[in-house]
Amino acid sequence: MTTYLTPALAWRRLREGNERFVTGESSHPNQDASRRSSLVENQHPFAVIFGCSDSRLAAEIIFDVGLGDVFVVRTAGQVIDDAVLGSLEYSIGVLGVPLIVVLGHDSCGAVSATKSAVETGQMPVGFIRDLVERITPSVLTSLRNEQTEVNDMVVEHVKQTSQRLVDSSRVISDAIESGRAAVIGLSYSLGEGHAELVSGIGDL
Ligand SMILES: [Zn+2]
Repeated sequence: MTTYLTPALAWRRLREGNERFVTGESSHPNQDASRRSSLVENQHPFAVIFGCSDSRLAAEIIFDVGLGDVFVVRTAGQVIDDAVLGSLEYSIGVLGVPLIVVLGHDSCGAVSATKSAVETGQMPVGFIRDLVERITPSVLTSLRNEQTEVNDMVVEHVKQTSQRLVDSSRVISDAIESGRAAVIGLSYSLGEGHAELVSGIGDL
């Protein structure tokens, strides 16, 4: 019998884990052999974390969780493509996860690259260009609002990414409308290890 957390309880669990990590009191839960064995047949993660691929943003570590706790999708600059949407729809529609976390961080390399492409008019080559194109709307909005710092652009990008998930996916928007799931945006500080709430869609 599976009991699903509410979006609010899922957020509380992540927040408490992040607080332990920030203060150096991580408890490293659910990382032993018995937890591993208990998960062989199925998984019931309580949140999906869609964050930047940055090596300093390791999801299970910064929220102090373990095996089977969070479903993780990461791309550089947390840009959305069809595979990301498919992975998120799977977590919401099939696994019944109650919370999507969009996770950006300060000094993000992908957002910085986009800022410089917009400022210089010079686009990067190869598929990095694809990342920059997908972040450009967030950078343009920031500049229009006279926010010229990378970290302000990161926050704008987290907000726009959250909204775009809901606009793009029927599975996600239906789950939010029924109160079964919510989307929150967090901005993570590399120095302090703190993940701050910057946006929310749905009941929390
Ligand atoms: Zn990044």
